[in-house]
Amino acid sequence: MKLFDSHCHLTWADDQYPVEEWLQQAHANQVEQFICVAVDEKNALECKALADIFPQVHPTFGIHPNDLGDGSELAARLQTLNSLAKETSWVAVGETGMDFFREHTTREVQEEGFTFQLELAKEWDLSTVIHCRDAADATLAILKNHGNPERCIMHCWSGSPDELKPFLDLGVWVSFAGNLTYPKSDAIRQSAQLVPEHRLLLETDAPFLAPQPKRGKRNEPAFLPHTLQALAEIRKMSPIDLAEITYQNTCEAFEISFHSGIEVDTDT
Ligand SMILES: [Zn+2]
Ligand SMILES: [Zn+2]
Repeated sequence: MKLFDSHCHLTWADDQYPVEEWLQQAHANQVEQFICVAVDEKNALECKALADIFPQVHPTFGIHPNDLGDGSELAARLQTLNSLAKETSWVAVGETGMDFFREHTTREVQEEGFTFQLELAKEWDLSTVIHCRDAADATLAILKNHGNPERCIMHCWSGSPDELKPFLDLGVWVSFAGNLTYPKSDAIRQSAQLVPEHRLLLETDAPFLAPQPKRGKRNEPAFLPHTLQALAEIRKMSPIDLAEITYQNTCEAFEISFHSGIEVDTDT
């Protein structure tokens, strides 16, 4: 069995618990590949630097809706993304999207950042990692009005089944995180039943949202099997089959060669 963590923030490892250790622990738990998601332009370069060292790490570049600030330097920052797009290493734009849970960035600024990044994804034929929190209607409207990029990933789905349905009609992938395992997450679990099998992804969103058995701890990719187990129970599937399916789905969602899997045991 091998697992793909389709969304984590490996750059937030620290001296006390360095990224080498995250990756080692992950490997010990059969988590072998990682989409390392950026939250701003500086962080994108850090993700890329990690990917240069670790071939199992795949970087994205983008600005999170909560990291757009007051929008005062928005134009210049979006131009920075524009220049970053020319680098060849990215597997996706993001994370971008809309977040009305925290509104220290206005909805207008969020929308401008989001639509710019959608256009960037289309222009460079990149996948798009979409963050959507308490903002399903607005996110959907923007995707429909601007035309969604071909490969969109709704990461850490936390909405209701009714909110999810119109996104599924757009042909997006849907990724489930540790909050799938929380006692009060019935709406997320009902959503997880609706997603077509070939659109299902798993993620940790580490260091956030540790799954129930590890709740309260700092999350890390090694904890992904707990979310796999929960999703397997919801879908009435074997965890081994589900691991294989979600691994392959992640490769497709990010256009990563299925056989780029790391063979850490080879000593050649
Ligand atoms: Zn997010
Ligand atoms: Zn994230």
